[in-house]
Amino acid sequence: MIPTHEARQRIVSALGPVATEVVSLAQACGRVLAEDTVARITQPPHDVSAMDGYAVRQADVQRLPATLTQAGEARAGGQAAQPVRPGQCVRIFTGAPVPADADTIVIQEHVRADPASAGGPRIEILQAPPPGTHIRRAGQDFRAGAAGLAAGRALGARDVGLAAAMNVPWLRVRRRPRVAIVSTGDELQLPGDPLGPGQILASNGFALAAYVAAWGGEPLQLGILRDRPEEFARLAQELAQVDLLVTSGGASVGDYDLVRSALGAQGLRVDFWQVAMRPGKPLLFGRLGTTPLLGLPGNPVSALVCALLFLRPALERLLGVPTAGQLPYAAAVLGRDLPANDAREDFLRATLARDEAGRWIATPFPVQDSAMLSILARADCLVQRAPKAPAAKAGDAAQVILL
Ligand code: AMP
Ligand code: MG
Repeated sequence: MIPTHEARQRIVSALGPVATEVVSLAQACGRVLAEDTVARITQPPHDVSAMDGYAVRQADVQRLPATLTQAGEARAGGQAAQPVRPGQCVRIFTGAPVPADADTIVIQEHVRADPASAGGPRIEILQAPPPGTHIRRAGQDFRAGAAGLAAGRALGARDVGLAAAMNVPWLRVRRRPRVAIVSTGDELQLPGDPLGPGQILASNGFALAAYVAAWGGEPLQLGILRDRPEEFARLAQELAQVDLLVTSGGASVGDYDLVRSALGAQGLRVDFWQVAMRPGKPLLFGRLGTTPLLGLPGNPVSALVCALLFLRPALERLLGVPTAGQLPYAAAVLGRDLPANDAREDFLRATLARDEAGRWIATPFPVQDSAMLSILARADCLVQRAPKAPAAKAGDAAQVILL
């Protein structure tokens, strides 16, 4: 048995980033950038007003109220207005270029306008801010050539907006890693099919495919293999174009746990097998031919906890994410007493709630069976307990992995 951090490290270092492809902005959300982007324009392109109001010269609004003549209008997308001469102002709207010689924007709530006066609209300025107020300077957001989004970034909606604003309509991203998923077990039946005696539903493949898709990969369901060596015979041939093979079940020590033996005959080279953790001890990692193989335990909770701890980092690595293998840890305090831990690192399914002081309280469920999917689905986090951790009391600090 090896520790979980070593298992994760060995998986991440055995893998490398997949090839790249180019996508448009509309396809970019959720993809991982493969190269740095650079702003192709300056934003704002010139000094613009941040408010609706009047562009004035500070010298004209030293004594208030001051009466100015409106000498034109500036609006977003319009032509640049005439320069503002002494005694004049320009009607201006949000986003419009600030006219030359104007240095102050008076918001329209702070004027009294008399549009019908002779010789042009007369604008009485009642209040005026210091120079520069409500003016967005050219390049305040970013300048052409400035660094935009960094390679390895998983693009979210805000990043897509930034790339669009930077006039970067196409982005080079990692292609989605293809992750083949195989379930093993004589007892497995698909949801919706008739269930015979002793049969159970093959839930792992669905949950794993959903995780793979959510983590930026392309899941390929290769179906269910029965617990007979012949069933595994075709597998090695089905893996062209697959970046990672994930199996569930059959990785333990039972007579019908065939992943190691049946795939051993196909040339499986095992990097490690068995990790000092609960749930999930019979985890296996190796290579079948050239394809990396992550053998997950069959118990649904074990399979999914191992997916969080090992499959997600594997996908991050395939996607070229620089922080691959860093887990979403958070600090909390325990909501109940816990006994001393044994030699295996423990990952307890727990709820998270805030107490009156605003602290996160992580309360492990009293039953932690590795087959109980209902509890995993209700959990907010996993409470991580180090091997040989001493007994802990409610209120003690705890490290959790957010779900
Ligand atoms: P195994 O590792 O094959 O011994 O499986 C351990 C337990 O997980 C057994 O109770 C299996 O019935 C169950 N199991 C295996 N594969 C799946 C699956 N795809 N979905 C749900 N449960 C499974
Ligand atoms: Mg089995």
